[in-house]
Amino acid sequence: MNHQAVKSDLEIVELAPSNGYQRLLHGRDKSCGLEALISVHSTKFGPAAGGCRMWPFASVKDAIIDVERLSRGMTYKNIAANLPLGGGKAVIIGNPRLDKTEQLLRSFGRFVDHLNGTYYTAEDVGVSPADMEMAASETPYVVGLASGEFASGDPSPVTARGVLLCLERALVHQGGDGNLAGVRVAIQGLGHVGMVFAQYLYERGAILTLSDINPGLSAEAAKKFNAKIVGLDEIYDADVDVFAPCALGGILTPQIISRLKANIVLGAANNQLANPDCGALLHQAGILYAPDYVVNGGGIVNVATEILAIDDPSWANARVKGLADTLETILDRAKASDTPTNIVADLMIEAKLESANV
Ligand code: NAD
Repeated sequence: MNHQAVKSDLEIVELAPSNGYQRLLHGRDKSCGLEALISVHSTKFGPAAGGCRMWPFASVKDAIIDVERLSRGMTYKNIAANLPLGGGKAVIIGNPRLDKTEQLLRSFGRFVDHLNGTYYTAEDVGVSPADMEMAASETPYVVGLASGEFASGDPSPVTARGVLLCLERALVHQGGDGNLAGVRVAIQGLGHVGMVFAQYLYERGAILTLSDINPGLSAEAAKKFNAKIVGLDEIYDADVDVFAPCALGGILTPQIISRLKANIVLGAANNQLANPDCGALLHQAGILYAPDYVVNGGGIVNVATEILAIDDPSWANARVKGLADTLETILDRAKASDTPTNIVADLMIEAKLESANV
C-alpha cells in the first residue's frame, strides 16, 4: 500500500490490483465524505475510458469487485469498437439520492485528475451529466458533457444505430438480405436507446412487440409504432424472430432462455448473460446471441469523439459501422468452430490485447 498524494483533504492510496489489471486506487476525502475507487484495467490501446457509478456498496471489497469487473469490460468494449482507448472505471461508494454534494463531486474530480489523463471518466448509473460538470471544474479528464467544444451529448441515438446495423448483419448471417420489413422484434425497455431503436425498426417495416415498466412509455410507443404492448414477464414468450434486451443486465438465465421463441438475441443492454455458461445454452438452443459489448459500442464511440477531440462525423460513422463488421467476424468464427459467440468474442479481444506489445 503506497500513500500517493494529498490534494486538499483528498487522500489517495494505490492498492494492489487483481491479476491482469494495471492499477487500483482508493480515494477518500473526510471533509466531504467521498470514498471512491478507480480501476485501470488496461492502457495498451490508449487512455483508459469508462464511466463513474455511484452505489451504496456494503463494503470497499464489494466496490473493488465491481469496479474491476466493469473496468475490464470497458477494455473489451473499446477494443471491439476499434477505438484507441483502454479500459477503466470509477465507483463512488454512497447513495446517489442522498449523498451527492458539489464538494464530493469536485473532490472526485481531483481524484480523477491525479491520474493525469490515463483515465477519463463520464456518467454512469447514479451519476448525471450535471454531476460530471461539477467534477469537470477540477479536471479536464471528464467526458459525456452537455456543453463545450467537443461535447458529445446523449450517446443513445448512436448506440441505437449501432444496434440496428448489427441486427441487419445478423439477419444476413442467417441467410437473409438484411431487410427488416416483416421481421418480428420484441424490445424489452423503451428508454433512451430502446425508443430510438423501436423508431428505426418501425421505419423499416419491422413488426414490434414492446414492454416497459413505465406505462407512459409503452403507451407512447404503441401509438407511434403501431406496436403490441405486453407485460414485463410476457415479453420472454413473445412469438418473434428477434429478442432485443434494452433494459437490464443479467436477464438471460437458463429459465428465460428456455422460454425464448426468437432465433436472434441482440440488444443494447449491458451484461445480458446471467453468467458466461448461458452463452453456451443459447448456442445449444440454436439462438444467435450477439455479444452485448460489441452491439452496444455506439455509446463509447460517441464518447470517444469527445476524448479524442474529433469533430469529423465520418470518423464515428465508420466505427459504428465497424461494430457490425466485428460482429460478423465473431458470428463466422462461432459458426466455423461450433463455439458460443460470447466465448469467441472474448478470445478475439484477448488475442488482440496480448498481441499489443506496448
Ligand atoms: P434507460 O434507463 O433510458 O432505459 C431503460 C428502460 O428500461 C427504461 O425505460 C425502464 O423503464 C425500462 N425497464 C427497466 N426495467 C424493465 C423491465 N424489467 N422490463 C421492461 N422495461 C424495463 O437506459 P438506456 O440508456 O436506454 O440504456 C438501456 C440499456 O443499454 C442499459 O443496460 C444500458 O446500460 C445499455 N447501454 C446504453 C447505452 C446508451 O448509449 N444509453 C450505451 C451502451 C449500453
